[in-house]
Amino acid sequence: MAKIISGKELSARLKAVMAAQVAAFPEQYGRVPHLVVILVGDNPASVSYVTGKAKAAAEVGIRNTTLRRPETISEAELLGLIAELNADADVDGILVQLPLPKHIDTDRVIAAIDCAKDVDGFHPSNVAALWQKQPCTLPCTPKGILRMLQTAGVEIEGRHAVVVGRSNIVGLPVAKLLLDANATVTMAHSRTPDLGAVTRQADILVVAVGRPKFVKGDMVREGAVVIDVGVNRDPETGKLCGDVDYAAVEPLVSVITPVPGGVGPMTICCLMENTIECFLRRVNG
Ligand code: NDP
Repeated sequence: MAKIISGKELSARLKAVMAAQVAAFPEQYGRVPHLVVILVGDNPASVSYVTGKAKAAAEVGIRNTTLRRPETISEAELLGLIAELNADADVDGILVQLPLPKHIDTDRVIAAIDCAKDVDGFHPSNVAALWQKQPCTLPCTPKGILRMLQTAGVEIEGRHAVVVGRSNIVGLPVAKLLLDANATVTMAHSRTPDLGAVTRQADILVVAVGRPKFVKGDMVREGAVVIDVGVNRDPETGKLCGDVDYAAVEPLVSVITPVPGGVGPMTICCLMENTIECFLRRVNG
């Protein structure tokens, strides 16, 4: 039976430690960290993510402001709002919930956020710093994945890690972090022929594809470590499910993350950590 890494439990432990840390901030620094989340429109998944972030902030003692704007907001208005928040000394972290409506240039919006307040780690300067091995704010999902692997005692150095998916927010940065941890990394994507032959080579398999139950039992090596990033609706049951066919894969592997309760809670936990880091850098000058 596989060891199941519960992101829910690990994040609860980490949030309790952060809550104790933040409780001391008013005396130390005169205030607590302040995270501002901008939500454009009312996409149900985005609303649910933003609600989860607000709940986690409350648990940790971080001040959270969610600014809701209509789907029709212009790019100029959104950029104006970000400029105001950049200039606001009481704001430590700015997060624009993605995806944005099609009429808005997401890259331009992300680049407009003050890099020092970029708690998502998506700003081009943070991305460049990651790839140049310089200090930076790490993107939350890859950071959470590495934390899960380390906490579960998974050896990364010298192992073959296969990452399926090459998005800017998950696949690419998680591959870079695994590389930095001295794994041998293979990246696979929609143009990879015979994907199963590649994924079966993985000691550590990270799947970030966005297709329900995409990775079947015959695509994993026995004893592998499997990290399932996907958040999908099972077309049959309507319930949340990952990119990995959990029932088929779990009996074969040594370590696996569940969906829900795996990578998702760790992503939010790392957002809280990033907010505290940005706060501390600002208050300590
Ligand atoms: P993207 O849609 O940006 O990227 C998906 C990647 O999967 C692409 O690189 C694509 O390849 C690849 N892909 C698609 N189909 C196949 C296929 N048939 N075979 C191999 N590769 C394929 O998704 P994200 O990275 O943003 O998200 C992936 C999943 O993770 C989603 O379910 C998302 O909801 C979830 N997610 C979960 C988070 C969490 O905190 N738990 C955080 C962020 C995302 P190509 O580049 O060739 O098109």
